[in-house]
Amino acid sequence: MSFDQSKYVWKNGEMVPWQQATFHVSCHGVHYGTGVFEGIRCYCTDSGPAIFRLYEHIDRWLASAKVYGMHLPYTREQLADAVMQVVAANNFSSCYIRPLAIYGSDTLGLHPRNTPVEVVIFAWKWGQYLGADAAAKGAHVTISPWRKFSSTAMPATAKACGQYLNSVLAVRDAVARGFDEAILVGEDGYLAEGSGENLFLVKDGVLFTNDEKSSVLMGITRDSVLKMAIDTGMQVCIRKLSLEDLLAADEVFMTGTAVEVTFVAAVDGRPIADGRRGPITSVLQRLFADVVSGREPRYRHWLTPVATPVPELNGERVSQCR
Ligand code: PMP
Repeated sequence: MSFDQSKYVWKNGEMVPWQQATFHVSCHGVHYGTGVFEGIRCYCTDSGPAIFRLYEHIDRWLASAKVYGMHLPYTREQLADAVMQVVAANNFSSCYIRPLAIYGSDTLGLHPRNTPVEVVIFAWKWGQYLGADAAAKGAHVTISPWRKFSSTAMPATAKACGQYLNSVLAVRDAVARGFDEAILVGEDGYLAEGSGENLFLVKDGVLFTNDEKSSVLMGITRDSVLKMAIDTGMQVCIRKLSLEDLLAADEVFMTGTAVEVTFVAAVDGRPIADGRRGPITSVLQRLFADVVSGREPRYRHWLTPVATPVPELNGERVSQCR
């Protein structure tokens, strides 16, 4: 196991030790990728750990489940509470949280029919997704030879396990060729997104990004950055983006729960402008860091503080992260 194990995992309504949080080999989700998941971050703030845009993540999780006809036998509030319990039970001050619902064991016919849904939530410490170098010096990305699947094949707006095979092909190819990340082009020839990130460009002071018409996941970080940019008085334009737009951009950055706001230094070895972090990217990156750490009162409603630990776990106290 190459990532840090945490103590407790929430599994089907109860907290179990990490080692016991397992699925059977015959699970439908294991064979066909029939699962839906989320990626959420909990940040350290002056008033303790807080989860960034928790309810938006839960809502997207439930919407993804609906696409695949999957019923999660918990309410939105129960799931949000379970996410908080995982953070508290493991005494995290900051962490990455992975809620997952998959079809369990009942049939391996493609139609899941009456297959029960397994729901788990676990968390671990996850630092900079593309590594410290990419965060500081910018990501070196490549245009993937693998096209982004079209939403006419599978809805890109749903965050479903099997859909990520497309991203895995793209990122493996990128890393094998010495890049940090891949950008996938859609079947219409326009840019879609990174293997696990949305894409933003800046040209002549205007911030550009694409939307679901380009088969992208509608990222919650994307939404946050757009709102912050508009509130800051920036001009924002949402439209399809071409490879030409990318190469001619003054600034390029990617957004996602894992990468947060990471600037792109070069595409296939061609620097974006002078290859350094641009002024608009810097403003948004700094603002995002302030927002997630609770230093921006205007966006404090995006943070859900994690309450004291669940009583069943011996009342261990959640560490304050000052
Ligand atoms: N696109 C893809 C394909 C992703 O996997 C992610 C990560 N969830 C994103 C975009 C960014 O979404 P978010 O900001 O909600 O993490």
